[in-house]
Amino acid sequence: MRSVGYGGGTIKCLRCGYCCKHLWVVILKDGNKPPTDNNLEAHLGHGEPCRHLKGKTPGKYRCAIHSGKHYRGCPCDRHKQVERDPKDVCRMGRHVLGRTRA
Ligand code: SF4
Ligand code: SF4
Repeated sequence: MRSVGYGGGTIKCLRCGYCCKHLWVVILKDGNKPPTDNNLEAHLGHGEPCRHLKGKTPGKYRCAIHSGKHYRGCPCDRHKQVERDPKDVCRMGRHVLGRTRA
C-alpha cells in the first residue's frame, strides 16, 4: 500500500491490500518510532499480511501506521508502484478488485 487510502501520496490506493500482503518491502516495526536501524524490518510478502495491515475485506483494508508522523518518508512510504501521478488509480488494485475503469 504505497499510499494506502490517505490521498496525496504517489497513487490513488483502492485499499485492495495486495501490496501489503505480497510485496517485499521494508517497514517500520513500531509506527510510533522513527525509522532507525533497529526499528526497521523486511516484510517478505508471500501472501502474509504486513503486521500493520488492518481489515479483512479487499477494498477496505487500511494501514494502522500510515497517518503516524514516522510513516512519511519511511522505506515503505518510498516504495513506489508503477503509477507516477497522485491522481492515478493503482492498476494493481483495479485488477484485484475486478474494476475495469479508474
Ligand atoms: S506498513 Fe502499512 S503500507 Fe506498509 S506494508 Fe505495512 S500495512 Fe502496508
Ligand atoms: S495494490 Fe494498490 S490498491 Fe492495492 S493496497 Fe496496494 S496501493 Fe492500494
